[in-house]
This record gives sequence, C-alpha cells and structure tokens, in this order.
Amino acid sequence: MNQDFVYEALPTRVVFGQGKLQVLPQEADKLGARRVLVLSTPGHASWASNVSELLGSASVGTYCHATMHTPVDISEKAVAHAQSVNADCVVSLGGGSTIGLGKAIALRTGLPQIAVPTTYAGSEMTPILGETENNVKTTKRLPVILPKVVVYDVDLTLTLPTALSATSGLNAMAHAVEALYAQNRNPVTSLMAEEGIAAFARSLPRIAQDATNLEARADALYGAWLCGICLGSAGMALHHKLCHVLGGTFNLPHAQTHAVMLPHTVAYNSLATPEAMQRIARALSSASAAHGLWDLAGALGAPRSLKELGMPESGIEQATQLALKNPYWNPRPLEAEGIRNLITRAWAGEMPSA
Ligand code: NAD
Repeated sequence: MNQDFVYEALPTRVVFGQGKLQVLPQEADKLGARRVLVLSTPGHASWASNVSELLGSASVGTYCHATMHTPVDISEKAVAHAQSVNADCVVSLGGGSTIGLGKAIALRTGLPQIAVPTTYAGSEMTPILGETENNVKTTKRLPVILPKVVVYDVDLTLTLPTALSATSGLNAMAHAVEALYAQNRNPVTSLMAEEGIAAFARSLPRIAQDATNLEARADALYGAWLCGICLGSAGMALHHKLCHVLGGTFNLPHAQTHAVMLPHTVAYNSLATPEAMQRIARALSSASAAHGLWDLAGALGAPRSLKELGMPESGIEQATQLALKNPYWNPRPLEAEGIRNLITRAWAGEMPSA
C-alpha cells in the first residue's frame, strides 16, 4: 500500500437478509414517516400494493410509473402526485429504474427514501441520479439523492430471471472493477471491490443452475451491496462512460450493455493497471482479469456482442467519436485507434484483446 487516500463513508443504514421486507414498517417509523408513497414499475404494481398493505395506515398508496433512464416528465408527474397525497417518505421497490424515480422525487422535494432493491444494479448505495430529457442523459451527484435506508431482502431477488441475474451481476461487477483502478481509490473500497467481484464469481454460476438457490442469491445480493458502495464512492472511467454513450445513442439495454463491454474495457486498461488486474483476476480465480470476465459471461450465457443487442455496425465510428468527445480520466489515455478496436471487437463478439 503506497498511496495517499481520502475515505468518506456514505451515511446509509443497511438492513440485509431473508424476509427483511417485514421490517419496512419499523424502518419507516424510525424515519418518522407517517405518509409513505410506494414506487414501482408498471410491471410490479402488485408487489407495490402488497408493500403498501404491509405499511398499513402509514401508506398513502402506490405510484407505479417508474421507467428506465428516469425521464424528467415522469419524475415531474410523480412529484405532483407525491405532493397531492402529502407524502413524507418514498419507498422504491425495484431495480435501478424505480430507485431512480425515488431519487428524482427526493432531489425535487427533499423527501427521505427507503430503497428496496430487486436487481444487482447498485443505485441504492449511490448519491448519483441520471435523468433523461429530450434524449439527453445528465448526471447529478448530491447528498439528498442518497437513500436514507436500504432494505436488502434476498427473497425479492428469487424471481429475477437467470439471464437478467447474469447481466445485472456483471453490471455490478463493473462498478467494483473501475473502483479498483479509480484515481480516488482507497484501501477500504478496494477491499469491498475485490470481495464484491468474488461474491458474484461464486454465486452467478450457481444462480444460472438454480435461480431459487437462496444461499447463492444471498451471496449475489451481498456482492451487489459491496459493488454499489464502490460506485457511490469511487470515480468511474472508460467502462462506465462508454456504456453511457452506447446506451444513450443506440438505446441499448443497460445491464446487457455493461455485460458485453466489461471484458473489453478491462482488456484496454489491463497494461496500465497491473495491480488492479491482479486483484480482479484473483477474485475471479482466473489467470487474467479480461479473459476471466469473458469466460464468466460465456459460462452464464450472457450476451457477448453489441450486434445482438441491436447496435448497427455503422454506429462503431459514431460511438468512437462520442467516446473521445469529452475527455475524462482513464488509467490508459483515450486513443482513437484503441477505442475503435475495442468497440469493433465488442460489436462483433470477439475475444477481448489489450
Ligand atoms: P430495471 O430497474 O429497469 O429492471 C430491469 C427489469 O427487471 C425490469 O423489467 C424490471 O421489472 C425487472 N425486475 C427487477 N427486479 C426483478 C425481480 N426481482 N424479479 C423479476 N423481474 C425484476 O434495471 P436495472 O438494471 O436494475 O437498472 C437500470 C437503471 O438504473 C438504468 O436507468 C441505470 O442508468 C440506472 N442505474 C443508476 C445507478 C445510479 O447510481 N444512479 C446505478 C445503477 C443503475
């Protein structure tokens, strides 16, 4: 350890385990909440109703219009609804899309949030909100965006389909990977990152075999928590920026895009960050970080090409230019030829290469 560092813990209370949804009324009470609004996507409206019932007289109902990429017009309608029912707290039950809506309401109203995540995306542990307006996604980072309480209930992840479990897990691993070579990395987030990657490397193959394996599900959700802290604490680099560009420009699905890109972005950075690569490889029990991730994605049957996600081949040059447009820090400088090669390989589904 030969690096100076700053460490700042983010103040979220975490309750973790099987059946923990049942503690929601007590957690809301601890926050002094008397009028809780439960949020979900339209597809999980019945879950939201059950949670509203669980909260009893402390609930003012549900709002089930959460949408991927947090469109501003939907957030504004949700704020108007929250104000019309005089809500004093929101519960976000779902993946990153629902948690994004809770954060958007908190940003505009200051209401406290309780997040109940049902995927591995990790948004619940970050003070970051990405919002979309007129097809442009902008990101804010503010303390009010961070949920006050996160309830991780392993049972709620049992229904996450195996394909989505794999891509959501690889999406989470990407947060830990970039935390290991972040400029502002520190020994604590690096420990969490390595353990987060290892937790997914252990659990995802078991979940692919049996989606209802509780022990593996608990391990994966534990990994999601650790990787979410990494995302909230350390700066992200090439991998997250590229996924942002690809997702926004070609409307590609979030977790799947991360899953395809991760082995390639790791390969691009591999020679510039040998210590991080060693830790990633160790967590994967593999000789190589990039190939270990490539093999894991393959074993899980996760998508391996941008082509199969629907990106046109003509988009490779556009994505390259956009990725280079606003320069940002990355362990290996951004080089047009290298980035073009990386995107070309990822588009075609070829093995990663440094
Ligand atoms: P999501 O919330 O859109 O969920 C993906 C799909 O899975 C949806 O169809 C949902 O209904 C379904 N689903 C969720 N949980 C389920 C379960 N337990 N069982 C069955 N189906 C389930 O996707 P996501 O990958 O969780 O989140 C992606 C969004 O979150 C993106 O908009 C991304 O930008 C954002 N995000 C933000 C941050 C942040 O820190 N701000 C971090 C990660 C992701």
